[in-house]
This record gives sequence, C-alpha cells and structure tokens, in this order.
Amino acid sequence: MTTPKPIVVCDLGGTRLKLGVVLGAQLLAQTEMGAEPKGGLADALQRIAKEIPGLCHQAKVARSQLGGFGLAFPGIIDPHSEKILSSPAGKFDDAKTLDVPALIKKLLRLPTRIGNDANAALAGEWHFGAAQGCRNVVMMTLGTGIGTAAILEGTPLRGQHGQAGCLGGHLTVSLDGRPCRCGNFGCAEAEASTWALAARAKDAPGFRNSQLAKEPVLDYAAVFRTAARGDRFAISIRDHSLHVWSVTLVNLIHAYDPGIALIGGGIMGSARLILPALRRHVSKRAWTPWGQVKIKPAKLGNYAGLFGCASWFQDQK
Ligand SMILES: [Zn+2]
Repeated sequence: MTTPKPIVVCDLGGTRLKLGVVLGAQLLAQTEMGAEPKGGLADALQRIAKEIPGLCHQAKVARSQLGGFGLAFPGIIDPHSEKILSSPAGKFDDAKTLDVPALIKKLLRLPTRIGNDANAALAGEWHFGAAQGCRNVVMMTLGTGIGTAAILEGTPLRGQHGQAGCLGGHLTVSLDGRPCRCGNFGCAEAEASTWALAARAKDAPGFRNSQLAKEPVLDYAAVFRTAARGDRFAISIRDHSLHVWSVTLVNLIHAYDPGIALIGGGIMGSARLILPALRRHVSKRAWTPWGQVKIKPAKLGNYAGLFGCASWFQDQK
C-alpha cells in the first residue's frame, strides 16, 4: 500500500465554499469563503487556486507533496468523464459548458476527482464517520436542498450517468405538489427544504399573523424555534416538513435496503426533534420484515464532504 498524500479538497455549496487539506483522517488546514455562484465555476476555481499556497502553509505541507484535488459539487457529475452535467438553477451556470477536469488540471496541476456533494458527504461518513464498516447505508442531508446517497454491498451507487442514489430529494412525495427547480412537481425538496421554505410558508394561509413572519431570517431554525413557542402556523410547517422527510426516508429504505440511514445537514441542528419523528414514522411505515433500519445522525457535520473528496483518492468512487 502506498503512503497517503495530502489532498486539497473543496466542498462547493450554493452559498459557502469550504476548502481544506486532508491527510488520512486528519483535516490539516481549512478555510471558508462565499461561494459566489453567480460568478460561475471558472471564477470559483481561480479563487481556489489562489488559496492553495495559504492552505499548504497552514497545513505545513509543501505544494510538491500534494497528491490531488477533490471537488464536491452540488449537481450531477458523469462518473466516467467527471464532467458536470447539471448545476443548481441560476448557480455556476458555466459548469455544464466547461471542461472542468481539464480546467482544474490547467489551474492546479494536480490529479483531480469531481463528484456530487451528497455522495461526498456519505463517502466521508463511510470512511471516517458514522457509517464506518457499513456495507449497506443511505444518507439524507437536510439543508438548502435535500441530498441523498447510497452505498450498496460496499460499493458507492452511481448508475449510468451519476444520477443513481443522489436524486432522493427529487422523489415525488406529493402528487399535486409544488413546482421544483428540477422541472418536476411535488419533489421532497420542493416541499421541505431551505430553498423552498420561504415561498411555501408565504403561500400558506395564516403566515402573515404568525410569529414566523416576524423572524428576520426565515429558515428551519426559525421554524423549530417558533413552533416550540407554540406558534400554530410554525407547528404546521414543522410537522409537514417532518412528514416529507419521513416519507422520503421510507422511499430510500424501500429503494436501497440499507441497514443504516444517516441524517445530516444544517437542519439537523434540530436533530433532537427530527430523529425521533423519523424513527417513529419509519418503524410504522417501512416494509422491513427482517427488523429495523438504524437511523443515526451523521458525525462529521460540515466536514463530511471534505473528507469524502479526499477518500476518492483512496478507493474507487
Ligand atoms: Zn425536483
């Protein structure tokens, strides 16, 4: 076995750009900045290139020691060519037309791996976090959107075009549901994710007179907080969202037959309420005659994706 080399890793979200240097199970250096998605991916990669000397300094490694660059991107990535096939609506619009692997090679002069951000988060948890040693696991990341990923029989699921497993947020959970950014209606993330929350709340009767309407930022932290204070409107939004996430999890369990389901993402700041609701629903509704799927919180938080990108250099994606 060869000695692992430090890997520069980037988890590019729609809002934040996280960068780091990972060696084995250690995050040697990290920094974070605005993703500035409207500026495009080429611009983001230029900014990343400029950060690398500082990251190497922080990590106490020489540039010549680096073994590669791993990029987690919020879109569909062809697993063979690693070209980006789709990006979130209105964000990194140039990504589909760029030859991203070639551009990265030119800018960074490092071997490159590019993958979906939800797949990266699960890879991180699988190698270093809550899914270590698991052969069959699904993950659902609740945040700006709903990311999902699956590992079956010890192999990360990808499919012909990189879409398998990572589109759980776009499983239909409501036949006459709200329009989604993907073109479908009633997707899980159109019904209950941070990007959809403000429009969904404002369209529902009773919003204007609710405590939620007085919150400066309309996010899930505000929903859980005002619901805990007894605001009936916030309670209805909270309970609908818990229902959507529970239904999505049952769909993932029926599709992929995992032994463990990990739940991660920023909304899991309210894990104390979310996990029991998911467990109650799954124990009643999932068809698992062999027993119960273990539903666990993810361990690595914001860093799961960074560790996942680095792991792509250790094993087959
Ligand atoms: Zn959708």
